[in-house]
Amino acid sequence: MTSLQIEKPLASADHGHLLKGKKIAVFGVANKWSIAWAITQSLSKAGAQIVLTYIDERTEEKVRDLAKTLHHPLILPCDVTQDDQIETVFSKIKHEFGTLDGLIHAIAFARKEELEGHFSSTTREGFRIALDVSAYSLIALARAAAPLMENGGSIVTLTYLGGKRVIPNYNVMGVAKAALECSVKYLAGDLGEKNIRVNAISAGPITTLAARGISGFQQLLKHNADRAPLRRNVDAEEVGDTALYLCSPLSRGVTGEILYVDAGYHIVGM
Ligand code: NAD
Repeated sequence: MTSLQIEKPLASADHGHLLKGKKIAVFGVANKWSIAWAITQSLSKAGAQIVLTYIDERTEEKVRDLAKTLHHPLILPCDVTQDDQIETVFSKIKHEFGTLDGLIHAIAFARKEELEGHFSSTTREGFRIALDVSAYSLIALARAAAPLMENGGSIVTLTYLGGKRVIPNYNVMGVAKAALECSVKYLAGDLGEKNIRVNAISAGPITTLAARGISGFQQLLKHNADRAPLRRNVDAEEVGDTALYLCSPLSRGVTGEILYVDAGYHIVGM
């Protein structure tokens, strides 16, 4: 820690019973470093019953292992590029849980070669894949989840400042995040009459599997910690607790919002 950095206050271990009896589906746990896993822990500590999905068999074992710490989780496969898998997931949730109160979308993907070099080199197929997995999937999941949210609900996705400003090497993922953030607003407009709220957390850089795919990520971490008002980077637990707020009645008046959890980096001009 440099002399400028401020020590992070300790998080409170007490998450109360804010989500007691609530059922929340979390898409995007790949391993213990996943932001989705930190979110799962925050939601679970607050009393939520959790559905976890995994993309493929390779990930299944890790997810099942992590899920041992949860209270009666439901664990299902789901590749969000496959409409039939999305349909199956939500019909199983309906069968097991009846209703759903929350949905966490913490999914993004772009081919490695699109996350380095010139943005103008983005291929048609690379663009299609990044936008499909990272942005369209929110619309597909929200559409499938909404009928189960009979008592209203909260949908939360994860975005990054690269969707608003040019961040080196973020490239097509920035375009995908811009589409994702705009989808948050349109979905919030669409689903508000059902008392379903839709928000995004714009997280600062955190070392995860997905983040390691971005060329120069270590420099990004250092730059953010040096410049952010709090003079540090955030951790996944801080994002998890913000997701807890967005899934809880504490945020009942908030929808269509992009909430920054980035130690304040996004406000800095110079
Ligand atoms: P991660 O690699 O742990 O999570 C990404 C997840 O996306 C993985 O679980 C992966 O299996 C899933 N995924 C990819 N393609 C999929 C598909 N076709 N079907 C289903 N799942 C698929 O990394 P993370 O950093 O925790 O990423 C979670 C979210 O947070 C992403 O949207 C990411 O853009 C966002 N985010 C991350 C950071 C960061 O610095 N780590 C900052 C801001 C936002």
